[in-house]
Amino acid sequence: MSPQPPTVVTGIGVSPGRVAAPAVRMPDPVPEPPAGRRLAPGTDHDAEAARIGEAAERVKAGLDELADRTEGDAADLLRTTAAMATDPTLVDDAVARVMSDHLVPERAVWEAAASVSAQFEELGGLFAERTRDVADVRDRLVAELTGRAAPGVPERDQPFVLVAVDLAPAVVATMDTDRVLAIATAEGGPTAHTAILARARGVPAVVAARGLLDGLADGATVVVDGSAGTVTLDPSDDDVAAARALAALVRTFTGPGRTADGHHVELLANVGDPGAAESAAEAGAEGVGLFRTEFEFLDRSEAPSVAEQVREYRRVFAAFPDRKVVIRTLDAGADKPMPFVAGDPEVNPALGVRGLRTAAVHPDILEDQLVAIATAAQAESAHVWVMAPMVSTVDEAQDFVAACARHGLEQAGVMVEVPSAALMSGPILAHARFASIGTNDLVQYTMAADRLLGAVAHLSQAWQPAVLQLVAATCRGGAAQGRPVGVCGEAAASPAMAVVLVGLGVTSLSMTPRALADVAAVLETVTLDECRRLAGLALAASSAADARAVVRDQLPVLAELGL
Ligand code: PEP
Ligand code: MG
Repeated sequence: MSPQPPTVVTGIGVSPGRVAAPAVRMPDPVPEPPAGRRLAPGTDHDAEAARIGEAAERVKAGLDELADRTEGDAADLLRTTAAMATDPTLVDDAVARVMSDHLVPERAVWEAAASVSAQFEELGGLFAERTRDVADVRDRLVAELTGRAAPGVPERDQPFVLVAVDLAPAVVATMDTDRVLAIATAEGGPTAHTAILARARGVPAVVAARGLLDGLADGATVVVDGSAGTVTLDPSDDDVAAARALAALVRTFTGPGRTADGHHVELLANVGDPGAAESAAEAGAEGVGLFRTEFEFLDRSEAPSVAEQVREYRRVFAAFPDRKVVIRTLDAGADKPMPFVAGDPEVNPALGVRGLRTAAVHPDILEDQLVAIATAAQAESAHVWVMAPMVSTVDEAQDFVAACARHGLEQAGVMVEVPSAALMSGPILAHARFASIGTNDLVQYTMAADRLLGAVAHLSQAWQPAVLQLVAATCRGGAAQGRPVGVCGEAAASPAMAVVLVGLGVTSLSMTPRALADVAAVLETVTLDECRRLAGLALAASSAADARAVVRDQLPVLAELGL
């Protein structure tokens, strides 16, 4: 009898690399216990109330044990959360709700936590930021009391592949990448911030792998291929050995980026904070093509002060002396909500007041940020370029450039993320000094496909010929005005797509530093003319799948390098 062929689930590869390891399922979020759920008459209230204290002790012990195995800031954070689990304010309040309101312990904990959070909110400042820790402790206590798996990334002795329906960006941002070797989700979109973070952290990832969780046993070995976008559920020994051999290959980038005939393509880094900028410099990036300043603002109840911003920006600029650093002004809204810029609730936040549009409502936030950028730029030698996110009209571009000029920031540009900006790139670039195409949002708005939604992930691809047409239009606008056009969306990090983008006229590519070596390795095997020819083939394709296939077919180097 011949062996059964392995079961391969196809999704979308969002972060390259192949990993073979046991699959571990991310527990479902802890649901809110129903309001008003009370103890049955005659229940021993003392015994039920005592369960809260016992659960708190167990949660604390578990977190302390985890802290002992963790280092640095993460360990401190875990100890603080552990202490909160047995904090009398929370536990005594929950016990009182069992004794006097007859609530079941899990509901009592839920309500007590809400009350503690409200007190923290009222105190504001640093206290308000602790409400997330309260929610974490609450969920752990409720899980303990109801016999569920503890929330968060599970603990295992061996490194593993984390599988889930979907994962929040915060989980991917904070998970320990020595333990989580790859991620695979049944839902999720390729340009969601979860996918971006997986790529930034160098964790191979596949999203929108429908059927992934059907019958997948916890601990069963799987092979995740983040380049092919597949998860093999019952791999052969050869599949496992091949994945392990590939994982051992490491490429490095020493710059600058060039095609085979010496055409320079600036290879830059996307960063979100000073630490990432320092690692990008170590990885050989020629500069920074996208500094997402909002990562400094996320989770804050108030905007950081000008002085604080100056300190952070200086550290990023200092990592690239005499090099280019493109800093983007605050991109709040949609999937990056920030309490201090929140306006009225919106039905379609992605189409609402986000990015540069928030400046009309909060001009002070943009002004403060430009003051901080100008001050930091003066103190450092980096060549600072400033750009605005979500520009959709010529007037917006003109106003932004004028605002930058008032602060002495001459290199002011725009992101092209909205189809209108791509189509109007000529007139826009008569004002703006450069454009940087944000393909993540450009794909979302061109294809009318939410970048967070797994159900439309097949549409959310920069390979869509319509998206490529808009990139080409932007490059024509740039060429007509003699202005450079870069790409800083995730598309820039795909080696095959990078070749097409260069062929369309893109002059710089900005990506997670981990992708620099792969993109450079492929670019140096093709001439500029070949890039143009391949771009022509992709533009002429009638679907994303055809565009990708026709280009990959002509680039055998991709398979040779395992990309
Ligand atoms: C983009 O939209 O491509 C982009 C780079 O911006 P962000 O992913 O931060 O929205
Ligand atoms: Mg964007």
